[in-house]
Amino acid sequence: MNAIGEYKVSLFCCMMNNCNKTYSTKFNLKRHVEICHLKQKKHKCDYCNKYFVSQQNLREHVFIHTGAKPYECSYCGEHFRQISQLSLHKRNHEFMGKPKGFCLDAIALGTKSMSLTQLLIQNIRENNFYNE
Ligand SMILES: [Zn+2]
Ligand SMILES: [Zn+2]
Ligand SMILES: [Zn+2]
Repeated sequence: MNAIGEYKVSLFCCMMNNCNKTYSTKFNLKRHVEICHLKQKKHKCDYCNKYFVSQQNLREHVFIHTGAKPYECSYCGEHFRQISQLSLHKRNHEFMGKPKGFCLDAIALGTKSMSLTQLLIQNIRENNFYNE
């Protein structure tokens, strides 16, 4: 009886991608699966069951399902789904700001007072700065 029992628990087979590696303990098998099969993409989307390499990738992906646009442009208040879209958009402001002689980047980083920033944005809006 003992021998049969031991034989049974000595075979934990990996079922991932026809890997079929066997391990003597469940713990070793679990560790193998985590290291060899799940290491690269362990952040799963609960909506569509896709896996993502980083928490950041997953978070931005989930916004597609929820429709949320959490990244707000500090210059004009427009919202974006991905931080890459926002930084691309912000580049437009920075590019447009240069001929006017303002360093919008420095203001955004908080080197100037908040009131001045708001004043500047107000000015830009009133002058139809974006439509030029
Ligand atoms: Zn495996
Ligand atoms: Zn998804
Ligand atoms: Zn903007």
